[in-house]
Amino acid sequence: MSSMSDQPTTAVDLARNVRDGIAKAVDVVDEYLARIDERDGEINAFNLVLADQARERAAEIDEMVSLGRDPGPLAGVPVALKDNLCTRGIPTTCSSKILAGWEPPYDATVVTRLRDAGAVFVGKTNLDEFAMGSSTENSAFGPTRNPHDTTRVPGGSSGGSAAAVAANFAAVSFGSDTGGSIRQPAALCGVVGVKPTYGAVSRLGLIAFGSSLDQIGPFAHTVSDAAVALETISGHDPGDSTSIQQGPLDLSRTLDLGVAGLRVGRITDLPKGASSDVEERLEAAFDALREAGAEIVDVEMPAFSYGLTAYYLIAPAEASSNLARFDGVRFGMRTPAPDTNSMYTATRTDGFGAEVKRRIMLGTYALSAGYYDAYYGRAQKVRRLIANDFAAAYAKADVLLTPASPTVAFALGDKASDPLAMYLCDTYTIPSNLTGDPGMSVPFGTGEHGLPVGVQILAPALKDDVMFQAAAALERHMQNHQDQIVSAS
Ligand code: GLN
Repeated sequence: MSSMSDQPTTAVDLARNVRDGIAKAVDVVDEYLARIDERDGEINAFNLVLADQARERAAEIDEMVSLGRDPGPLAGVPVALKDNLCTRGIPTTCSSKILAGWEPPYDATVVTRLRDAGAVFVGKTNLDEFAMGSSTENSAFGPTRNPHDTTRVPGGSSGGSAAAVAANFAAVSFGSDTGGSIRQPAALCGVVGVKPTYGAVSRLGLIAFGSSLDQIGPFAHTVSDAAVALETISGHDPGDSTSIQQGPLDLSRTLDLGVAGLRVGRITDLPKGASSDVEERLEAAFDALREAGAEIVDVEMPAFSYGLTAYYLIAPAEASSNLARFDGVRFGMRTPAPDTNSMYTATRTDGFGAEVKRRIMLGTYALSAGYYDAYYGRAQKVRRLIANDFAAAYAKADVLLTPASPTVAFALGDKASDPLAMYLCDTYTIPSNLTGDPGMSVPFGTGEHGLPVGVQILAPALKDDVMFQAAAALERHMQNHQDQIVSAS
């Protein structure tokens, strides 16, 4: 485990310096590319580094500044994109063999918005194949390693994006969260990670896993960087029918309001399974918010613990349908065979990894005639019960605090052959995907082996701003207790 001397420059500061002409975007990007060169051989955060494009884009940004034009709120900020976000003319693989050679004909809406805000894309990051996993070990590109300890996983499925920020290969990165894939790796890598309210960010150009659960969000070093990143990508998009009809989220303005009078909920019947170091940090987070003026209230959520079970019916059901399009005809690789049906089978047999096949089988089974009501139908009813629990809890509390991950980063290989153990990583994150409410993980000190612990803040739909206020308060507390902060570059 390595520690580091100085704090990474924030995206907010980088952009300000570039806009004010104090720093050149080309120098900034060179510094980040040099770090990637030096250390990504070991970390494997990237499936693809876009060095030439990044330098070209940075030069354009500098040119705009010299002409007196404003390149935008993320001017010259090095940004990494999870490799399930479509980038026009740039390979997008979902870390799957099946998409080998495919280049999307269009950009995801978030990609367009980031580019328009002045971001400089440094690369596409590694993930669990099609975002199915919690360790980034299910990747055709090999596992990503945790920058804090390279014998350990970075979490998943957005492990490459989390590691890229933790190692300061990018100032900000983006991932997708279907059951915890932003918040859990953020916790394990010691960075901020946000799953916004469902529909706040367009999913156009995000390769779908579970369409009713998927949401794109940022990873960042600080809460205010995450706020700017999320403001940039959020807001209505007519290209996504589930996108909420309202403008961008407004988060930065209220960050410093504090938490005086805020009601912070403690879930008294939270599912067991968190390790004692994580529980201690959660208690410390309650204390920190109480000290800052918040009121801690008890809430009960009896259906919370059924989230995982419902998710492993609903998410695979949606995935089995979404992944039907990868058939060797329209995208990526094809295994030749004498007739069309055997070509589909051969391509999918060769192209998909074991976890993806497991999900397709689970989902197809849950949706089959005769089982539909017993499995998928009942899972949807549980989803409703969980939503009712949240509604009752949010009548008493403004936000809820839970662990983001039950443990600190575990060793590579530890859970790779035990799917259930891997699934349990998302016990605390999944319920808010089922309801569409926002959630985020904030680094809050360290646990076992000096590894980062993340505290999860949950809030009602479209109360992302309140969630960020609580996050900022936790961050301020940590800044005043510097000795508990770890970093990884
Ligand atoms: N780990 C969960 C799964 O494997 C969640 C993944 C995600 O959020 N994309 O399904």
